[in-house]
Amino acid sequence: MIIVLERGATEPQIDQISKYLTSRGIRFERMNGRLQTVLGIVGSTGGYDIASLATMPGVQEVVRVSSPYRLSSRSAHPEDTVITMPDGTRIGGTAPSIVIAGPCSVESEDQVRRTAEIVRKAGVRFMRGGAFKPRTSPYSFQGLGFDGLELLKKVGEEFGMYIVTEAMEPAQVPAIAEYADIVQVGSRNMQNFPLLKQVGSIEKPVLLKRGAASTVEEWLMAAEYILAGGNNNVILCERGIRTFEPSLRFTPDLAAVPVVKKLSHLPIIVDPSHATGRREFVSSIARGAIAVGADGLIVEVHPDPDRALSDGAQSLTFELFEEMMGELVRVADAVNRPLLVEPLHKKDGAFVRKPSSVQQ
Ligand code: PEP
Ligand code: MN
Repeated sequence: MIIVLERGATEPQIDQISKYLTSRGIRFERMNGRLQTVLGIVGSTGGYDIASLATMPGVQEVVRVSSPYRLSSRSAHPEDTVITMPDGTRIGGTAPSIVIAGPCSVESEDQVRRTAEIVRKAGVRFMRGGAFKPRTSPYSFQGLGFDGLELLKKVGEEFGMYIVTEAMEPAQVPAIAEYADIVQVGSRNMQNFPLLKQVGSIEKPVLLKRGAASTVEEWLMAAEYILAGGNNNVILCERGIRTFEPSLRFTPDLAAVPVVKKLSHLPIIVDPSHATGRREFVSSIARGAIAVGADGLIVEVHPDPDRALSDGAQSLTFELFEEMMGELVRVADAVNRPLLVEPLHKKDGAFVRKPSSVQQ
């Protein structure tokens, strides 16, 4: 932090500011410029809110020079964080980019199984599906709750897929983490601090979606809560932000991918479904995300999107999904970062995650 003093700051004013700092044990260095004086804080501010000094007489502005997040910052942890799933599948770093696919909401066993079969056949290892849904209207479908989680788990095991599902309430996190392989914190809950603290206390990886009105810094501060709780397995997810542009549901911020990669070591994936809100644009934004270096994608797919109980307009049909996967593989090859595509394997009549001969 640097405290820039006003051009006309008087010695008694500077003295008062200096006393404020020293009385709180905050060390600083005074630099006298030709026109202005600057006080540079040395080391920690000891938890004091130095920004509030901006209102003291003689202070022009208080400037932050280092990032407010530490654990999620690249400077504190130069190597990429790589998350390793129980079978050795890796997310982040130089690992192949992953695809998470499935319906917005779990609606029925038939819907989940049909979707799982198609996406798994296309080589996808991670299935999404909401059982607890954050809906704008209290009259909209709210999800099947724990019955939905049972369905996800059953079908996930059947097809050898990891389950990604959302938790909305801190109290439900331990129970949801029993079913989920990755626990999602949705956009609306990015700054639900009790929820962030709770997912910080579990072992399972957390998919932290960016708030629609959040800056990258606020998003990394939210990740900081989870890391500070002891859970280092955080995957960030860019899912579109609200801007003045009304032609799409949100504005996909693909630039956030290289920006986050510079500022943080955490893996980052992109959700082109919520970002665009329209299935016709999902594939192009997905391709863009892979091209700019995303560690993966999360995409909504439904057997009959026009009858979906949530987010039908942005859900891909099976046909569009298969087409998108083919295109993604080509983009991934072009940028020299393969896409994780693992064909379905059957062993003793059941689908398995990996044939024993295939090593990660
Ligand atoms: C979802 O994944 O279905 C969802 C509600 O996403 P978001 O939190 O990004 O709106
Ligand atoms: Mn959705």
